[in-house]
Amino acid sequence: AGRDLDVVTFLASRRHSGVVALVDASTGRRTTFAELWRAVAGAATALAAPPFGLRKGHVALILSPNSVHFPVAALAAMSLGAVVTTANPLNTAAEVAKQVADARPVLAFTTRDLLPKLPRAADGLRVVLLESSSSPAPADPRIVATIDEISATAPDPARRRDRVTQDDQATLLYSSGTTGPSKGVVATHRNLISMVQIVMNRFRLEDSDTTETFLCTVPMFHVYGLVAFATGLLGCGATIVVLSKFELPEMLRCISAYGVTYLPLVPPILVAMVAHPKPLPLGNLRKVLSGGAPLSKELIEGFREKYPQVEILQGYGLTESTAIGASTDSAEESRRYGTAGLLSPNTEAKIVDPDTGEALPVNRTGELWIRGPYVMKGYFNNTEATQATVTPDGWLKTGDLCYIDEDGYLFVVDRLKELIKYKGYQVPPAELEALLLTHPEVSDVAVIPFPDRDVGQFPMAYVVRKKGSNLSAQEVMEFVAKQVAPYKKVRKVAFVTDIPKNASGKILRKDLIKLATSKLTL
Ligand code: ATP
Repeated sequence: AGRDLDVVTFLASRRHSGVVALVDASTGRRTTFAELWRAVAGAATALAAPPFGLRKGHVALILSPNSVHFPVAALAAMSLGAVVTTANPLNTAAEVAKQVADARPVLAFTTRDLLPKLPRAADGLRVVLLESSSSPAPADPRIVATIDEISATAPDPARRRDRVTQDDQATLLYSSGTTGPSKGVVATHRNLISMVQIVMNRFRLEDSDTTETFLCTVPMFHVYGLVAFATGLLGCGATIVVLSKFELPEMLRCISAYGVTYLPLVPPILVAMVAHPKPLPLGNLRKVLSGGAPLSKELIEGFREKYPQVEILQGYGLTESTAIGASTDSAEESRRYGTAGLLSPNTEAKIVDPDTGEALPVNRTGELWIRGPYVMKGYFNNTEATQATVTPDGWLKTGDLCYIDEDGYLFVVDRLKELIKYKGYQVPPAELEALLLTHPEVSDVAVIPFPDRDVGQFPMAYVVRKKGSNLSAQEVMEFVAKQVAPYKKVRKVAFVTDIPKNASGKILRKDLIKLATSKLTL
């Protein structure tokens, strides 16, 4: 990373030209690295010219489900020094409008289905449709071309007027907004390149015209999916099979049809794979990566038992750390049950008492601070939030309560903002969830703070029972009470058929709290 390369030059400097870079799972269409590079360079040439005139520092929005066009659009814009911002395709028009008002893109890549979500009032916003078809585009004056049209432009490097360096901004990803308002996270080319190198190093993905095939079903708009495709395309020259949305049968079909070897996932998908009565056919699959949300011991155990041929890896990170700050391989995980792993290369970490700011010794729980080449530049247009999150000497305050043991293994206890405040005590809901998942009749669970006049908040559990189970609320509460300190007891239980989760696999506690308290008057 010492050389001054932007992400796209990094791609062009790779060798893999004859290897298939992208496979569109819906059509089977394949794109080689040589074709991908030509498409990116062609699209960049077109985007630099009128009517787009895309320049360094401009923002380009991608509002799209996963597709083979997504990386082409992202890399073409980044190669010009433009900053790529991505939006969850499930966001409402109002949410998209809010992001557009904050990020002020001059260009939007989207699909015809999602076009109505783009605010009309965004003056000067030009649209490129992310589709290959040449069927007539809908009548909308903002549409200038399709991605295939611009990719077919003859590449002309002279069009690239601005020099792009590693310190320039590459992406503006919005955090999921799980614990507060969503914020724009600015990452540089250096952040992305260092992350690609780290993922390859930690998950032993080699740069060798490999036979590695990734299945990308994690969302590309999230840092997880972005780093997944960037690692394959920019890093190890893997083939990326792109699935536009997660469905178990389609995922299994792709695993066999395309010989998938490496599968990044979020915990809820692992839950579905483990819950299946018989082991599912997983072809050549050798590695599954879990990230985005805590992974319970029970799930790891269940997965290992059912799929002994597949190694389960784990990554811990945040949008603010451009993905992984710590990770495990199976050997490490077996040595330290429940760990989120060892720190990434070039990472420093400390555990800080959130009240006093003091650094804590090994095995003591506090807020994890990390420092490394992938830590974001800051929040977009939000100096106050940046100052509250990144110290002047580069430490990122993760907002996660963790401890690190004597051998350097990281354990994530919970998110600081999600602690339940019972009287003077703080109860980590993740601890109670992990405990409840060990109950043989519980298939999924979420614990939330329930407001109470006398005690402040107490833990309430939403439980999904296994098929045929008659487990009662009383039994659930007793199960927990027997194993925890009295202040951690679950004091209310409701049964549901599933637990709402977001795209990175996190429990939507805000929705459950709303549900629990909707009929409540304090
Ligand atoms: P917001 O900050 O807007 O609430 P968000 O934090 O949900 O959004 P992300 O960047 O997707 O957005 O989530 C990062 C968080 O995900 C981490 O701080 C951590 O709490 C959790 N996380 C990610 N990976 C793991 C893991 N392997 N184990 C435990 N927790 C994880």
